Amino acid sequence: MAAGSAIQIPSRLPLLLTHEGVLLPGSTMRTSVDSPRNMQLVRSRLLKGTSLRSTIIGVIPNTSDPISDCDDLPSLHRIGTAALAVQVVGSNWPKPHYTLLVTGLCRFQILQLLKEKPYPVAEVEQLDRLEQFTNQHKSEEELGELSEQFYKYAVQLVEMLDMSVPAVAKLRRLLDNLPREALPDILTSIIRTSNQEKLQILDAVRLEERFKMTIPLLVRQIEGLKLLQKTRKPKQDDDKRVVSIRPGRRINHITSTAEDEEEEEDHDDVVMLEKKIRTSSMSEQALKVCLKEMKRLKKMPQSMPEYALTRNYLELMVELPWNKSTKDRLEIRAARILLDNDHYAMEKLKKRVLEYLAVRQLKNNLKGPILCFVGPPGVGKTSVGRSIAKTLGREFHRIALGGVCDQSDIRGHRRTYVGSMPGRIINGLKTVGVNNPVFLLDEVDKLGKSLQGDPAAALLEVLDPEQNHSFTDHYLNVAFDLSQVLFIATANTTATIPPALLDRMEIIQVPGYTQEEKIEIAHRHLIPKQLEQHGLTPQQIQIPQVTTLDIITRYTREAGVRSLDRKLGAICRAVAVKVAEGQHKETKPDRADMGEGEDCREHVTEDTKPESISDTADLALPPEMPILIDFHALKDILGPPMYETEVSERLSQPGVAIGLAWTPLGGEIMFVEASRMDGEGQLTLTGQLGDVMKESAHLAISWLRSNAKRYQLTNASGSFDLLDNTDIHLHFPAGAVTKDGPSAGVTIVTCLASLFSGRLVCSDVAMTGEITLRGLVLPVGGIKDKVLAAHRAGLKRVIIPQRNEKDLEEIAENVRREVTFVLASCLDEVLNVAFDGGFAVKPRVERLNSKL
Ligand code: ADP
Repeated sequence: MAAGSAIQIPSRLPLLLTHEGVLLPGSTMRTSVDSPRNMQLVRSRLLKGTSLRSTIIGVIPNTSDPISDCDDLPSLHRIGTAALAVQVVGSNWPKPHYTLLVTGLCRFQILQLLKEKPYPVAEVEQLDRLEQFTNQHKSEEELGELSEQFYKYAVQLVEMLDMSVPAVAKLRRLLDNLPREALPDILTSIIRTSNQEKLQILDAVRLEERFKMTIPLLVRQIEGLKLLQKTRKPKQDDDKRVVSIRPGRRINHITSTAEDEEEEEDHDDVVMLEKKIRTSSMSEQALKVCLKEMKRLKKMPQSMPEYALTRNYLELMVELPWNKSTKDRLEIRAARILLDNDHYAMEKLKKRVLEYLAVRQLKNNLKGPILCFVGPPGVGKTSVGRSIAKTLGREFHRIALGGVCDQSDIRGHRRTYVGSMPGRIINGLKTVGVNNPVFLLDEVDKLGKSLQGDPAAALLEVLDPEQNHSFTDHYLNVAFDLSQVLFIATANTTATIPPALLDRMEIIQVPGYTQEEKIEIAHRHLIPKQLEQHGLTPQQIQIPQVTTLDIITRYTREAGVRSLDRKLGAICRAVAVKVAEGQHKETKPDRADMGEGEDCREHVTEDTKPESISDTADLALPPEMPILIDFHALKDILGPPMYETEVSERLSQPGVAIGLAWTPLGGEIMFVEASRMDGEGQLTLTGQLGDVMKESAHLAISWLRSNAKRYQLTNASGSFDLLDNTDIHLHFPAGAVTKDGPSAGVTIVTCLASLFSGRLVCSDVAMTGEITLRGLVLPVGGIKDKVLAAHRAGLKRVIIPQRNEKDLEEIAENVRREVTFVLASCLDEVLNVAFDGGFAVKPRVERLNSKL
């Protein structure tokens, strides 16, 4: 059935009602069939039919809602297209439906509807492609002119497309081969037209009318393509032209101009970037790399992912402070004053920092060990680092290393990775914008290790003054000079710092504070800071020293001051509410809901009369200024005290002694408990102990067994063999914390001596020291922190090994005044002090055995 030849359609046609798309004669359309009527038509007519005639159906476009056509037939468009069903494909997913491929043959109009169910059938009249019309044209010239014009536009349009696409080449051939009168329908269905426009073309039964209506559509399409051609580069242009002519896509004039501008902007940016690269002060090697990358960038299409990557890289390179530094303004006297002003106590640390800075001033280079402040949390390590930056007039940047377990975190990722970025060092430099900041490497003891490499090893290069002038970040891939950066590290303990890293650092211990130091720190630094943060003034709140001491002893138990700071913050918050409420009432004193209005006014005007505010809970009353925080107020705001200062009650039965332990969080007192029961001489240890601690327990028992007679120690049945028919259980409370180290030796001995002698250990004595089988007491570490913990807990006497005497010098005067130190070199001395009235030693009766 050639397009040009006449056709004859049956006079009765089954009707397929479509609601999307308009089929025009000469074109092909795929349509989905799922309404009951259309499904019936497909089943009983197309699938059963055998003759060609039975596959001819009438397609009626623009039928409204297909679902509602179950009962009443919707109003039908008068003109439709007779079509040949070329293909039927059925599917059950997601619901039963057919997909029909139909080719339009000619127009028809419905004369009369013959039946509606199960599918409509109508008597129709064919409107075009009839035998008598094919050769019969209206006034030849008029139509000739119109069709010529149409043909010209059609050719122009097709030639704007990419001829290398086979479909386009075929279309070009069809333009010449097809009869002109078939062209309007075919081209309308190819170019971008709305359903409404297609419907108008379908309704244009007269050929002349059809030509006239199609020409503007062609012109519109041509104009659109021209615009596109202008905005696209040659290659992209061609692609887009092919795409854009397909129906369903619109040429968006506005977007294309916006894209145009964006592209130009981008181009400008690239030019700017190149200029910046050339004028930047980066190293020669870096400049070379950047220019090479720039060259690549210019050749790259912007849509390539690598474009953004390269651009980011170049932008970072330009931003890095290759040669930009701040001028050091170091004056040792001023530095001393500043350090003293910012931090109370910590004399040893401040002294060492000043020495370090003085050497720097004289020598003007940084080739020295990296300072590493080691101490419990909240003792001001970070804050000293910040002060050092301030004294030098340098930028400060903190790099938190806690939990870092990938060396790329330090050194950056290679640029081959998606999402690659520089490491923290380079990032930090970019952030501060100068090449000589103070970098605080916080928590170096908490560096992790993983399959992604060892970050500590990467840090080695950063911290080594011999190497770090050419530090190469994987992302940058060129060397960056870090020699001007002042590195300071902090840690809670040296035990977990990798030895190689430790080797490059000078450790400065920052021990915890005494109660007196904490009170001073609170009043000089923490309280003023908290008041400022909460918008309060000393006229509004008063925290006397006894209250601070109460907070320190009863609400916190820490080596540093962080928790204290938080508690002070909580008090300030509570007071801020009171003050704000008071102000609120001051501004509206005669509020109707204020029952005792006069009363209230009295309070407000009475102002600054300091008085204890034990009734802080009653927020209905305006506060009297300044609000004094006494013990009652404290209890009201912070709740009941969390810690007891008195430890004496705890030692109310034999078999308990107080030891002193050192943890990365500072010193702690530790109650060692022991009990005995019938058994077979087993020793049970509980409380998460390390191997060394277990050994200490065995040592202690052995020593006691060997000295049982001397001290008159017996088991339950009165035997000097302490383990005879007896089991011993030793427990170290706070079971969640792993404890290890030899320093609990003396405490275990004392605890067991108490258990077997049935005597109570003095409640005010704490002790620490390693023991030997011979009963000697050996020195241990962390004496200062341990003594502070004992002092915090209100203990009056501390037994320490004789050889630790030198450590007492570091202990503050007031602590030394309040705590009595007993230096012990052997266990006899320890036991004598630990028990009231001494621990009797049965004098040895020296018997001379005569061998005669
Ligand atoms: P760290 O780094 O040791 O964990 P921080 O430096 O963060 O502790 O200190 C916690 C808070 O305690 C900071 O607000 C700091 O100002 C304050 N602080 C600690 N020690 C002192 C001190 N000696 N003098 C003044 N403020 C201090």
